[in-house]
Amino acid sequence: MRVHIVTYGCQMNEYDTHLVASELVSLGAQMVNTIEDADFVLVNTCAVRGKPVEKVKSLLGKLKKEKERRGLRIGMMGCLAQLEEGQEIAKRFDVDVLLGPGALTQIEKALAADSKFWDLAFHEELNRVVAPPPAGALSAYVPIIRGCNHRCTYCVVPRTRGGVEVSRPPELILEEIERLKAAGVVEVTLLGQNVNSYGNDRPEYPSFAELLRMVGELGIPRVRFLTSHPVNFTEDIVRAIAETPAITRYIHLPVQSGSDRILRRMAREYRRADYLRRIETIRDYLPDAVLSTDIIVGFPGETEEDFEATLSLYDEVGFDHAYMFIYSARPGTPAAEHFEDLPREVKVERLKRLIEKQKAWSLEKNRAWVGKEVEVLIRGDAKETGFAEGHDRGNHPVLVPGDQAPRPGLYRVRITEASPHLLFGEVTEVLHAPAPREAVA
Ligand code: SF4
Repeated sequence: MRVHIVTYGCQMNEYDTHLVASELVSLGAQMVNTIEDADFVLVNTCAVRGKPVEKVKSLLGKLKKEKERRGLRIGMMGCLAQLEEGQEIAKRFDVDVLLGPGALTQIEKALAADSKFWDLAFHEELNRVVAPPPAGALSAYVPIIRGCNHRCTYCVVPRTRGGVEVSRPPELILEEIERLKAAGVVEVTLLGQNVNSYGNDRPEYPSFAELLRMVGELGIPRVRFLTSHPVNFTEDIVRAIAETPAITRYIHLPVQSGSDRILRRMAREYRRADYLRRIETIRDYLPDAVLSTDIIVGFPGETEEDFEATLSLYDEVGFDHAYMFIYSARPGTPAAEHFEDLPREVKVERLKRLIEKQKAWSLEKNRAWVGKEVEVLIRGDAKETGFAEGHDRGNHPVLVPGDQAPRPGLYRVRITEASPHLLFGEVTEVLHAPAPREAVA
């Protein structure tokens, strides 16, 4: 069987694609790079916003035609596969195999039966050590927890990936990272819907702060983590970051809104002042931390005053970067069922204003790096533009002339120029760039 996987959505989905690909390879499948070369195409879907769902539908439309033409088999995995909405889509586009995010290790049974396996209770994958990426990438994801105990009113995740947090056994996390290190990986990202809650479900496990310290001792040069929740981002975590050199000083702390009224409607469980206190703690321990956030613009009921509270919070924190989204009602969520959506033009206009603010702050923050030296992980070969692209320990995208970084690896780079979205620099030292046959990013 020749399999191609198309992945939409977050880092968790990227990891799940790797996991299912490893599973398929061990069943004798051959992974191929294009739909044309495949006889089974698996679509790893995202359901958090309307746009990725539309993309999935459009791809499934094309795949259905291929199926009619040459008997292609179609599979669907990821968050959408777990939802009624996704199951209806699957029917409409004649999908053969459905696999929920909690049933990834069941791919063999699902293929054999051409049936649906979307049981959230499994999470069997958490009890396995997954082989390093076969191509020997320099960067890898390591899930540490699945599911989410929070109930944000706009979010489908508790229904798709489980509404109860399940932590992965620490010995398996450490073993997987050791294997990655032996395979040449220099950066791991610890993943979960809410990594800060790690261990809360198992008193015998370390806390997230303790886990960070344990992972930091393994000798991997860079350790990052995604995603955090302001309620669970406690001082011991900040202290662990400050005292563990391998942990990068990049902190992504989604705020979603600067208005208490909207935060309450979102059921985010904190208020503006609580969030600002967390930021103060971070600044106290980590004055050099790079801060980013997620913001939903135009949540139902958001008034001009509420939106201005978000703008003023942005100024108060001075984020380095933000992922900004227009609110998109997801079927079945409390927000979609109980609140009335705002007109699209209001949401678009507010998003534009927020983007302007973000650009101004990012430019100011990025300019402060000009003249400084940073460590950049170059992920691939130079692009047609002649630049090789990577990211520093603050997660800034950095471009360097391709001839100065001919191979993927870690480079010391002096920043020479900044734009709101990019840093440009010159390589001053090659820190770690394995020969091409040993590593491909
Ligand atoms: S914290 Fe809220 S937004 Fe994040 S996964 Fe949980 S329910 Fe969804």
